Amino acid sequence: MSSSAETLSQAFTLGYTYTRSTGPIVGQFLTSLRARKMVGIKASDGKVLMPPVEFDPVSAAALTEFVDVADSGVVKTWCWVKEPRKAHPSDKPFAWAMILLDGADTPMLHWIDAGDEAAMSTGMRVKVRWAAETKGVMDDLNGFVPESVALLTELKPAASDEPIIGVESPSYLTYNFTAGKATSLYLRSMKEGKLVGQRCPKCRNVYIPPRGSCAACGVPTEEQVTLSNKATVESFTIVYIPIPGNPIKPPYVIANLVLDGANLSFLHLLSECKNEDVRIGMRVEALWRPEEEWGFAMENIQYFKPIDEPDMPVDQIGKLIDEGR
Ligand SMILES: [Zn+2]
Repeated sequence: MSSSAETLSQAFTLGYTYTRSTGPIVGQFLTSLRARKMVGIKASDGKVLMPPVEFDPVSAAALTEFVDVADSGVVKTWCWVKEPRKAHPSDKPFAWAMILLDGADTPMLHWIDAGDEAAMSTGMRVKVRWAAETKGVMDDLNGFVPESVALLTELKPAASDEPIIGVESPSYLTYNFTAGKATSLYLRSMKEGKLVGQRCPKCRNVYIPPRGSCAACGVPTEEQVTLSNKATVESFTIVYIPIPGNPIKPPYVIANLVLDGANLSFLHLLSECKNEDVRIGMRVEALWRPEEEWGFAMENIQYFKPIDEPDMPVDQIGKLIDEGR
């Protein structure tokens, strides 16, 4: 097997359910959009900025004077998108354009549904195509269309007249995680029901999960060490707050555990005991899931549970005596 084939990789999506506070200016702009009205803001030089900004570009003073702007205007510049991507506002070819609305002095960026590139030109007149249902978000502007295009007249009134003070802006990053040589070795071992770490050739410390190098000495770690299923509690936390998406019901114990034969701890669940009985130095053992459920994951171990052995003295936890030292 080549070394590249030994490296595991996996698709991941990292997501945040992010809510953005809009502040008074953007909030008013979005509140107006929901009412199918366009508003700009007057700057210190008398120009009407569109979309409105919070601070004057020249004096940096806070801006407050909203000005009604038309929902139609002139295309100043544009480019044609032949092959829309998933995140684009349209799945058909469209134009990105800088559009100067009547009554505004600065053009705004939006998209134009012109059907065909041949229908686009600089200086052409366009108008807003309002969404049938508006919510106080940028998508209330369902793009612009050439002024001659007939639009739906059935527009629902806005569901609310409360000012917009925040918008949901969930953010997702989908990426491919490549585990690297050391982590791949570790995850492959997990799939075989073994806990395998690496020993530093210099300080002799044993790391699990292995990182491929020693954080203290900065040298590569090559020597593999198969470790015990037994471990000692180095520290622990009793979790009372539920974590969204986590199926484990609080309260439960998360512990830093040092496996016998290793020097550094890793996190895992501790169960089969009363939470109040958990203590530093407590001896525990891995409870593996049934073999047919094993994957390339730490979850192959369901949790650690106490064993009937005397506690380890605190000053000996993680102090591996290695005869090669
Ligand atoms: Zn080292």
